Amino acid sequence: MNTLMDRYANAVKQMELGNWTDAEQILKALKAENKGMNPFCNYQLASVNNALGNPEAAYDLYYEAFKQMPNITSALYTENHPNRHYVFNGIKPEKSRTDCPLCGEQGIPHWTYSMTDAAGYNPDINPVRMWMHCKPCNHLFARNFPEKIFLHNANPRRANAGFFPYYSNILTNIRRYAPGMSLFEVGVGASECLLAAREIGYETFGIDVIARHVEDAKSLYGLDTETADFNVYESDKQWDVIIMGDVLEHVSDPVRAIEKAKELLSPKGALWISTPNFESAVSAVTGHDDVMRKQQYHLNYFSRESLYATLERFGLRAVDYQISGHYKGSMEVIAVKI
Ligand SMILES: [Zn+2]
Repeated sequence: MNTLMDRYANAVKQMELGNWTDAEQILKALKAENKGMNPFCNYQLASVNNALGNPEAAYDLYYEAFKQMPNITSALYTENHPNRHYVFNGIKPEKSRTDCPLCGEQGIPHWTYSMTDAAGYNPDINPVRMWMHCKPCNHLFARNFPEKIFLHNANPRRANAGFFPYYSNILTNIRRYAPGMSLFEVGVGASECLLAAREIGYETFGIDVIARHVEDAKSLYGLDTETADFNVYESDKQWDVIIMGDVLEHVSDPVRAIEKAKELLSPKGALWISTPNFESAVSAVTGHDDVMRKQQYHLNYFSRESLYATLERFGLRAVDYQISGHYKGSMEVIAVKI
Protein backbone atom coordinates (compact mmCIF):
# COMPACT_ATOMS: atom_id res chain seq x y z
CA MET A 1 0.00 0.00 0.00
CA ASN A 2 2.92 2.33 0.65
CA THR A 3 4.49 3.91 -2.40
CA LEU A 4 8.24 4.41 -2.65
CA MET A 5 7.80 8.09 -1.87
CA ASP A 6 5.67 7.35 1.18
CA ARG A 7 8.33 5.03 2.52
CA TYR A 8 11.05 7.57 1.83
CA ALA A 9 9.01 10.29 3.58
CA ASN A 10 8.56 7.94 6.52
CA ALA A 11 12.33 7.37 6.70
CA VAL A 12 12.92 11.14 6.82
CA LYS A 13 10.28 11.43 9.53
CA GLN A 14 11.97 8.69 11.58
CA MET A 15 15.24 10.64 11.25
CA GLU A 16 13.56 13.78 12.57
CA LEU A 17 12.30 11.75 15.52
CA GLY A 18 15.79 10.37 16.14
CA ASN A 19 14.77 6.80 15.25
CA TRP A 20 17.97 6.29 13.32
CA THR A 21 18.00 2.50 13.06
CA ASP A 22 14.38 2.42 11.84
CA ALA A 23 15.25 5.03 9.22
CA GLU A 24 18.31 3.03 8.20
CA GLN A 25 16.27 -0.13 7.60
CA ILE A 26 13.72 1.66 5.43
CA LEU A 27 16.38 3.49 3.38
CA LYS A 28 18.47 0.37 2.81
CA ALA A 29 15.42 -1.56 1.59
CA LEU A 30 14.40 1.29 -0.74
CA LYS A 31 17.90 1.56 -2.11
CA ALA A 32 17.96 -2.15 -2.94
CA GLU A 33 14.55 -2.03 -4.61
CA ASN A 34 14.81 1.09 -6.71
CA LYS A 35 17.84 2.51 -8.46
CA GLY A 36 16.30 5.93 -8.97
CA MET A 37 16.03 6.37 -5.20
CA ASN A 38 19.74 5.70 -4.65
CA PRO A 39 21.08 9.27 -4.49
CA PHE A 40 18.38 10.29 -2.01
CA CYS A 41 18.77 7.16 0.07
CA ASN A 42 22.55 7.60 0.13
CA TYR A 43 22.24 11.23 1.20
CA GLN A 44 19.89 10.37 4.06
CA LEU A 45 21.89 7.27 4.99
CA ALA A 46 24.94 9.53 5.33
CA SER A 47 23.10 11.56 7.93
CA VAL A 48 21.89 8.36 9.63
CA ASN A 49 25.42 6.93 9.73
CA ASN A 50 26.76 10.13 11.22
CA ALA A 51 24.11 9.99 13.93
CA LEU A 52 24.89 6.33 14.59
CA GLY A 53 28.58 7.09 15.08
CA ASN A 54 29.93 6.08 11.65
CA PRO A 55 31.32 9.35 10.29
CA GLU A 56 33.59 7.65 7.74
CA ALA A 57 30.69 5.76 6.18
CA ALA A 58 28.75 9.05 6.23
CA TYR A 59 31.52 10.78 4.28
CA ASP A 60 31.48 8.11 1.54
CA LEU A 61 27.69 8.09 1.33
CA TYR A 62 27.43 11.87 0.92
CA TYR A 63 29.94 11.68 -1.92
CA GLU A 64 28.12 8.82 -3.54
CA ALA A 65 24.94 10.92 -3.45
CA PHE A 66 26.59 14.05 -4.89
CA LYS A 67 28.28 12.01 -7.64
CA GLN A 68 25.10 10.17 -8.55
CA MET A 69 23.07 13.37 -8.64
CA PRO A 70 25.13 16.58 -8.69
CA ASN A 71 22.04 18.78 -8.33
CA ILE A 72 20.52 16.71 -5.51
CA THR A 73 19.98 19.80 -3.36
CA SER A 74 17.39 21.06 -5.85
CA ALA A 75 15.23 18.09 -4.84
CA LEU A 76 16.15 18.03 -1.13
CA TYR A 77 15.63 21.66 -0.21
CA THR A 78 12.56 23.85 -0.21
CA GLU A 79 11.91 26.49 -2.86
CA ASN A 80 13.66 29.36 -1.05
CA HIS A 81 16.67 27.50 0.42
CA PRO A 82 19.83 29.47 -0.56
CA ASN A 83 21.68 26.34 -1.75
CA ARG A 84 18.84 24.85 -3.76
CA HIS A 85 20.68 25.58 -7.02
CA TYR A 86 24.01 24.10 -5.92
CA VAL A 87 25.57 21.66 -8.42
CA PHE A 88 28.40 19.38 -7.28
CA ASN A 89 31.36 19.78 -9.63
CA GLY A 90 34.20 17.83 -7.99
CA ILE A 91 36.37 19.06 -5.13
CA LYS A 92 38.60 22.10 -5.55
CA PRO A 93 42.10 21.95 -4.02
CA GLU A 94 41.85 21.96 -0.24
CA LYS A 95 43.95 21.21 2.80
CA SER A 96 43.55 18.25 5.05
CA ARG A 97 44.99 17.03 8.33
CA THR A 98 44.51 14.15 10.74
CA ASP A 99 46.87 15.38 13.49
CA CYS A 100 45.49 17.59 16.26
CA PRO A 101 46.43 21.27 15.86
CA LEU A 102 46.82 21.54 19.64
CA CYS A 103 48.96 18.51 20.53
CA GLY A 104 49.90 16.71 17.29
CA GLU A 105 48.24 13.41 18.26
CA GLN A 106 46.21 11.61 15.61
CA GLY A 107 42.52 12.48 15.74
CA ILE A 108 39.69 10.04 15.10
CA PRO A 109 36.71 10.76 12.80
CA HIS A 110 33.93 12.25 14.91
CA TRP A 111 31.19 13.85 12.78
CA THR A 112 30.45 14.30 9.08
CA TYR A 113 28.01 16.87 7.73
CA SER A 114 26.81 18.13 4.40
CA MET A 115 27.81 21.80 4.44
CA THR A 116 25.17 22.60 1.82
CA ASP A 117 22.60 22.66 4.63
CA ALA A 118 24.18 25.86 5.97
CA ALA A 119 22.86 29.16 4.66
CA GLY A 120 26.27 30.73 3.99
CA TYR A 121 27.70 27.76 2.08
CA ASN A 122 30.28 28.73 -0.57
CA PRO A 123 29.85 26.41 -3.59
CA ASP A 124 33.61 26.45 -4.29
CA ILE A 125 34.20 24.54 -1.07
CA ASN A 126 33.96 20.79 -0.47
CA PRO A 127 30.29 20.13 0.36
CA VAL A 128 31.18 17.46 2.92
CA ARG A 129 33.05 18.20 6.15
CA MET A 130 34.52 15.69 8.55
CA TRP A 131 35.35 16.77 12.10
CA MET A 132 38.14 14.87 13.86
CA HIS A 133 38.32 14.42 17.63
CA CYS A 134 41.55 14.51 19.61
CA LYS A 135 40.90 12.44 22.70
CA PRO A 136 43.82 13.68 24.86
CA CYS A 137 42.80 17.34 24.29
CA ASN A 138 39.02 16.82 23.90
CA HIS A 139 39.26 19.04 20.84
CA LEU A 140 37.60 18.92 17.42
CA PHE A 141 39.30 19.99 14.21
CA ALA A 142 38.43 19.95 10.51
CA ARG A 143 39.97 17.09 8.55
CA ASN A 144 39.36 18.89 5.24
CA PHE A 145 39.06 22.64 4.85
CA PRO A 146 39.39 25.38 2.22
CA GLU A 147 42.83 26.79 1.41
CA LYS A 148 41.65 30.39 1.66
CA ILE A 149 39.72 30.79 4.83
CA PHE A 150 39.17 34.52 5.27
CA LEU A 151 37.46 35.39 2.01
CA HIS A 152 34.00 35.23 3.53
CA ASN A 153 34.67 38.24 5.72
CA ALA A 154 36.00 40.44 2.95
CA ASN A 155 32.75 42.28 2.28
CA PRO A 156 32.73 45.71 3.89
CA ARG A 157 30.17 46.02 6.67
CA ARG A 158 29.23 49.14 8.62
CA ALA A 159 29.46 48.97 12.40
CA ASN A 160 26.26 47.77 14.05
CA ALA A 161 25.45 50.14 16.92
CA GLY A 162 23.49 47.35 18.60
CA PHE A 163 26.78 45.72 19.60
CA PHE A 164 28.13 48.63 21.70
CA PRO A 165 26.33 47.68 24.96
CA TYR A 166 27.50 44.07 24.46
CA TYR A 167 31.14 45.18 24.31
CA SER A 168 30.62 47.63 27.16
CA ASN A 169 29.53 44.73 29.40
CA ILE A 170 32.50 42.63 28.31
CA LEU A 171 34.97 45.44 29.05
CA THR A 172 33.38 46.12 32.45
CA ASN A 173 33.90 42.44 33.29
CA ILE A 174 37.49 42.48 32.02
CA ARG A 175 38.38 45.46 34.27
CA ARG A 176 37.75 43.24 37.31
CA TYR A 177 40.88 41.35 36.25
CA ALA A 178 42.92 43.95 34.33
CA PRO A 179 42.39 47.62 35.28
CA GLY A 180 44.90 48.94 32.68
CA MET A 181 43.43 50.90 29.80
CA SER A 182 45.40 49.89 26.69
CA LEU A 183 43.57 47.49 24.38
CA PHE A 184 44.60 45.46 21.34
CA GLU A 185 41.96 43.78 19.22
CA VAL A 186 42.82 40.87 16.93
CA GLY A 187 40.48 41.02 13.95
CA VAL A 188 38.81 44.43 14.08
CA GLY A 189 36.03 43.50 11.63
CA ALA A 190 33.51 46.35 11.48
CA SER A 191 35.21 48.16 14.42
CA GLU A 192 32.39 47.71 16.95
CA CYS A 193 34.66 46.61 19.79
CA LEU A 194 37.27 49.32 19.18
CA LEU A 195 34.61 52.02 18.99
CA ALA A 196 33.02 50.89 22.26
CA ALA A 197 36.44 50.65 23.95
CA ARG A 198 37.44 54.13 22.77
CA GLU A 199 34.21 55.62 24.11
CA ILE A 200 34.87 54.02 27.51
CA GLY A 201 38.36 55.54 27.60
CA TYR A 202 40.68 52.81 26.33
CA GLU A 203 43.73 53.60 24.25
CA THR A 204 42.93 51.29 21.34
CA PHE A 205 44.82 49.48 18.61
CA GLY A 206 43.76 46.69 16.28
CA ILE A 207 44.83 44.52 13.38
CA ASP A 208 43.00 42.54 10.73
CA VAL A 209 44.16 40.33 7.87
CA ILE A 210 41.57 41.99 5.65
CA ALA A 211 42.88 45.36 4.43
CA ARG A 212 39.38 46.64 3.73
CA HIS A 213 38.42 46.37 7.40
CA VAL A 214 41.53 48.28 8.40
CA GLU A 215 40.96 51.00 5.80
CA ASP A 216 37.38 51.46 7.00
CA ALA A 217 38.46 51.62 10.66
CA LYS A 218 40.91 54.40 9.79
CA SER A 219 38.91 56.39 7.29
CA LEU A 220 35.46 56.12 8.86
CA TYR A 221 36.42 56.32 12.54
CA GLY A 222 40.06 57.43 12.79
CA LEU A 223 41.02 54.23 14.64
CA ASP A 224 44.67 53.19 14.96
CA THR A 225 44.77 49.91 12.99
CA GLU A 226 47.12 47.88 10.79
CA THR A 227 46.72 45.14 8.20
CA ALA A 228 48.58 42.17 9.69
CA ASP A 229 48.40 38.47 10.46
CA PHE A 230 48.40 38.08 14.24
CA ASN A 231 50.44 34.86 14.31
CA VAL A 232 53.44 36.70 12.81
CA TYR A 233 52.75 40.19 14.23
CA GLU A 234 55.75 41.68 16.03
CA SER A 235 55.81 44.54 18.54
CA ASP A 236 57.90 45.67 21.52
CA LYS A 237 54.74 47.01 23.13
CA GLN A 238 52.48 45.07 25.49
CA TRP A 239 48.77 45.67 26.05
CA ASP A 240 46.60 45.48 29.20
CA VAL A 241 43.72 43.92 27.31
CA ILE A 242 43.86 41.70 24.25
CA ILE A 243 40.55 40.94 22.55
CA MET A 244 40.53 37.82 20.41
CA GLY A 245 36.92 37.33 19.40
CA ASP A 246 36.06 34.55 16.95
CA VAL A 247 39.65 34.06 15.86
CA LEU A 248 40.84 30.70 17.20
CA GLU A 249 38.24 28.66 15.31
CA HIS A 250 39.46 30.14 12.02
CA VAL A 251 43.22 29.54 12.25
CA SER A 252 45.18 26.42 11.36
CA ASP A 253 47.65 27.11 14.21
CA PRO A 254 45.60 28.21 17.24
CA VAL A 255 48.46 27.34 19.60
CA ARG A 256 50.64 30.00 17.97
CA ALA A 257 47.85 32.56 18.32
CA ILE A 258 47.59 31.92 22.07
CA GLU A 259 51.38 31.99 22.45
CA LYS A 260 51.47 35.31 20.55
CA ALA A 261 48.73 36.76 22.77
CA LYS A 262 50.79 35.81 25.83
CA GLU A 263 53.83 37.64 24.38
CA LEU A 264 51.84 40.80 23.70
CA LEU A 265 49.99 40.84 27.04
CA SER A 266 51.27 43.06 29.85
CA PRO A 267 52.09 41.30 33.18
CA LYS A 268 48.78 42.30 34.79
CA GLY A 269 46.85 42.09 31.56
CA ALA A 270 43.85 40.02 30.53
CA LEU A 271 43.18 38.08 27.36
CA TRP A 272 39.55 37.80 26.23
CA ILE A 273 38.65 34.96 23.88
CA SER A 274 35.39 34.01 22.29
CA THR A 275 35.08 30.80 20.30
CA PRO A 276 32.42 28.13 19.77
CA ASN A 277 32.28 25.37 22.40
CA PHE A 278 31.21 21.98 21.01
CA GLU A 279 30.08 20.98 24.49
CA SER A 280 28.01 24.13 24.99
CA ALA A 281 24.49 24.03 26.40
CA VAL A 282 23.29 25.25 23.01
CA SER A 283 25.02 22.40 21.18
CA ALA A 284 23.58 19.89 23.66
CA VAL A 285 20.09 21.12 22.83
CA THR A 286 20.50 21.54 19.05
CA GLY A 287 22.51 18.34 18.49
CA HIS A 288 23.06 17.64 14.80
CA ASP A 289 21.32 20.92 13.96
CA ASP A 290 24.08 22.88 15.73
CA VAL A 291 25.01 25.49 13.10
CA MET A 292 28.59 25.68 14.37
CA ARG A 293 29.19 22.14 13.05
CA LYS A 294 28.48 23.37 9.53
CA GLN A 295 30.75 26.43 9.43
CA GLN A 296 32.95 25.80 6.41
CA TYR A 297 35.55 28.37 7.52
CA HIS A 298 35.91 26.98 11.04
CA LEU A 299 38.92 24.70 11.43
CA ASN A 300 38.75 24.28 15.21
CA TYR A 301 35.89 23.53 17.55
CA PHE A 302 37.12 23.86 21.13
CA SER A 303 35.72 22.52 24.38
CA ARG A 304 36.19 24.41 27.66
CA GLU A 305 38.73 21.72 28.48
CA SER A 306 40.79 22.06 25.27
CA LEU A 307 40.83 25.85 25.51
CA TYR A 308 41.77 25.99 29.19
CA ALA A 309 44.56 23.40 28.78
CA THR A 310 46.06 25.28 25.83
CA LEU A 311 45.99 28.52 27.83
CA GLU A 312 47.73 26.81 30.76
CA ARG A 313 50.44 25.52 28.44
CA PHE A 314 51.44 29.12 27.81
CA GLY A 315 51.19 30.36 31.37
CA LEU A 316 47.67 31.74 31.11
CA ARG A 317 44.85 30.87 33.47
CA ALA A 318 41.16 31.12 32.63
CA VAL A 319 39.47 33.14 35.39
CA ASP A 320 36.07 33.86 33.90
CA TYR A 321 33.64 31.92 31.69
CA GLN A 322 30.55 33.44 30.11
CA ILE A 323 28.02 32.02 27.67
CA SER A 324 28.04 34.32 24.65
CA GLY A 325 25.04 36.54 24.09
CA HIS A 326 26.31 37.23 20.59
CA TYR A 327 26.95 33.84 18.99
CA LYS A 328 24.80 30.93 20.09
CA GLY A 329 27.04 28.17 21.42
CA SER A 330 30.14 30.31 21.88
CA MET A 331 32.05 30.65 25.12
CA GLU A 332 33.68 33.90 26.27
CA VAL A 333 36.71 33.36 28.44
CA ILE A 334 39.01 35.78 30.28
CA ALA A 335 42.55 34.54 30.98
CA VAL A 336 45.35 36.21 32.96
CA LYS A 337 49.05 35.48 33.27
CA ILE A 338 49.87 32.95 36.00
ZN1 LIG B 1 45.19 17.16 20.81
